[in-house]
Amino acid sequence: MKTIEVLLPGALSHGFDYAVPEAMAVAPGDYVRVPFGSRETAGVVWGEGTRGGGALKSVIEHYAHLPPMAGEMRAFIDWVSWYTCSARGAVLKMALPLPEALKPPSARELPPAMPPVAAETARELSEDQLRAEAALAARLGHGFSATLLDGVTGSGKTEVYFDLIARLLEDAQAQILVLLPEISLSIQWLSRFAARFGAEPHVWHSGLTPARRKHTWRAVAQGQARVVVGARSALFLPFRRLALIVVDEEHDGSYKQEEGVIYHARDMSVARARLEKIPLLLVSATPSLETYYNVLSGRYGAQHLHLRHAGAAFPAMHMIDMRHSPLARGAFIAEPLRAALAETLARGHQSMLFLNRRGYAPLVLCRACGHRFQCPQCSAWLVLHKGGAAERMQCHHCGYALPPPAACPACHAEGSLHACGPGVERIAEEAASFLPQARLCVLASDSLESHTALQARIEAMERGEVDVLIGTQMIAKGHHFAKLALVGVVDADLGLSGGDLRAGERTYQLLHQLSGRAGREEVAGQVLLQSFDPGQPVLQALLRGDRDAFMALDLEERRCAQMPPFIRLASLIVEGAQEEATSRLARELARAAPAMEEVCVLGPAPAPLFRLRGKYRFRLLVKAERQVNLQQVIHDWLAPFKLPSSLRVKIDIDPYSFL
Ligand SMILES: [Zn+2]
Ligand SMILES: [Zn+2]
Repeated sequence: MKTIEVLLPGALSHGFDYAVPEAMAVAPGDYVRVPFGSRETAGVVWGEGTRGGGALKSVIEHYAHLPPMAGEMRAFIDWVSWYTCSARGAVLKMALPLPEALKPPSARELPPAMPPVAAETARELSEDQLRAEAALAARLGHGFSATLLDGVTGSGKTEVYFDLIARLLEDAQAQILVLLPEISLSIQWLSRFAARFGAEPHVWHSGLTPARRKHTWRAVAQGQARVVVGARSALFLPFRRLALIVVDEEHDGSYKQEEGVIYHARDMSVARARLEKIPLLLVSATPSLETYYNVLSGRYGAQHLHLRHAGAAFPAMHMIDMRHSPLARGAFIAEPLRAALAETLARGHQSMLFLNRRGYAPLVLCRACGHRFQCPQCSAWLVLHKGGAAERMQCHHCGYALPPPAACPACHAEGSLHACGPGVERIAEEAASFLPQARLCVLASDSLESHTALQARIEAMERGEVDVLIGTQMIAKGHHFAKLALVGVVDADLGLSGGDLRAGERTYQLLHQLSGRAGREEVAGQVLLQSFDPGQPVLQALLRGDRDAFMALDLEERRCAQMPPFIRLASLIVEGAQEEATSRLARELARAAPAMEEVCVLGPAPAPLFRLRGKYRFRLLVKAERQVNLQQVIHDWLAPFKLPSSLRVKIDIDPYSFL
């Protein structure tokens, strides 16, 4: 009797052997339903079985209407599992998130979408764009390549890769994947796509209904979905014949998944493109240091776009030195920025105020005794929120919330609570005080608000129904507001505190992207940055518009500090509900650390977020020279430890956030 190995989505790394009934023909990659314990579950045939047929349970059903999962895709799942030190089943679950999608669609389900058509472009491309497009087109169909498409905001990068998509659509089977951060809010990208190709692409992200996701998954697996645009999880869809991967805004932090299988979608897309033997296009105005380094060292190619489209000028950038612009009591917007806002409003143009802090105030304290409100579950202050249904103090890590009490819980003083520092809601309140006639709008990703509500506000801004948009980093992304003339950065120093490895890079990317929002069309743009330390290299480089000098400096600092991309880094977070047991395991791990000259283990130290959702957290950092097989080292190191279920070790290869 024939036997096969079936991999099941879930926590296990190994597959299970099953017997194949006489009348059934299955091969590796086929989707099947099998008995597992007391239930039935869907899985994928991974290979030949190794055990005899006698006692084995049999495959129940072969979903023969679906083409098998391609060998490249199975190799990708194996590779991601190895690279991220995660169970293979956990990676398969990302490729097969809805087992119901395997059943044939019922008659009532969504009709197939219109395919996009490769119509001739109506828009004239610049010489720069034509050169880049020709160079990139030459790589299509010639195996793996990775290329950075590097160009300032508004230089027309999207048109260039739209042209590549159009070329590929001429082949009746080629599929194209475009990854975008914050996909659910990229309505402008979607409408540009529809205008160019006469149809919507297939969209993939976690905010969609299960029916929509099922429909899209099937269309991808069957090869009918020609163009898929999605968030990071779209990289795990089982494409039939992938021909190109585009990672737009490749530097964006949201490509890193921090829960479950911890991975960076940009890095994983390199692996997928390599396995599929197809080109990968990384797109950014402010490339990540990793990608920049790969271009410098010749591993990736690069195409540069220099000119801004339609003659729009770059916004003028000015620093407001807060040491010489004293603030009024309780205010956070200095006089020069107030004046610029008033003037922009008077001219009938739009402004944006940026502060990367949600809520009203980042901290509440008692003025009588100094008590600060902290989350009982996490090492974090409670953030005061006034917008929405009710005033509340909330933890941004676990969601714990309570209404501000009338009296201080520590000293019982009444009316002594004081909101410290600004969040976007407080900036909006201040703007309303000196611009009483302006139409203000706050935009921050708040768990209490739906995507629809946020989209409605972006659309109102597009239609010119908002004078001043106040928001967190989500206002920096991709939006195109024709009448936007002023961008005010309330605290340009904010991202630089905390000593994070990527603080400088991230601040540069964010502020550069923000400034790119201003003056995109007929209106001349202006950017004002409030800073208490305007001499910082990041801010100086922004002022001069000298990105490459900044990147060179940052890269040199990483080289000196022996940090990525010059070495490899992994973080091990030991988590548990009991502080003593957690700390003991962390110390035991450190004692058993690999004794290799090329590997160095730092810690354990309490993680910056020492308590998270009630768990204690200790961190070990592993630094290794580039040639070291880091995954193997970690595997050999941890294998002898038998962890009780109350303790967990989270492995993060190439960590991004250091919390
Ligand atoms: Zn008090
Ligand atoms: Zn919390």
